[in-house]
Amino acid sequence: MLTELEEKLDGLEWEEARAAAAEYIGLPGPLPAPALRRAMVEDRYCLVLLAFRGNLPRLQELVNHPDNRAYELPEDLTPTAATANRSTPGLVIEAGKALNRWATAGFRTVDPETYERRTAACAGCPELTEPPVKWVYKVIMATASDDRVCGACGCVASRKARLVTERCPRRDPSRPELSRWGDPFAA
Ligand code: SF4
Repeated sequence: MLTELEEKLDGLEWEEARAAAAEYIGLPGPLPAPALRRAMVEDRYCLVLLAFRGNLPRLQELVNHPDNRAYELPEDLTPTAATANRSTPGLVIEAGKALNRWATAGFRTVDPETYERRTAACAGCPELTEPPVKWVYKVIMATASDDRVCGACGCVASRKARLVTERCPRRDPSRPELSRWGDPFAA
């Protein structure tokens, strides 16, 4: 997400962020949730939204674009109240990058065995911490049942472990050539 918009949304709850983003670009009503998620992880899309500030017909095309369906979540149909919290731009960016890598790879997920191996490693890892309750996690990692966060990268570990594009960022102390997930370590 571009800094210009990110600064407008920092510290807002999710619903507030949707309203603020819509107001900023000149769209009546809250920005559709999939459009805001896409703007968070695709700078080009965010840039186009900002470029058409105040151009209602063009904005309506953009926020209802079929490509935005890739960013829909089940909770869009049954919204729940978001928790009021501040967000940290760095965490937004890191979680957004992970989602973007995954989208680029066609939303592929790992096989169950790999997922089990990864989550078992995370469960025993000192980097695993309780999440800072920030709206970015509600947005990007909304489907995670275990929302503890990898302190090394800022992503929800159980979510990150599903994505075929992700790597563990820490070496296994007993096998330094491997990551804690057991893959060849890549710096
Ligand atoms: S991804 Fe790696 S560093 Fe992060 S919590 Fe899991 S095992 Fe630990």
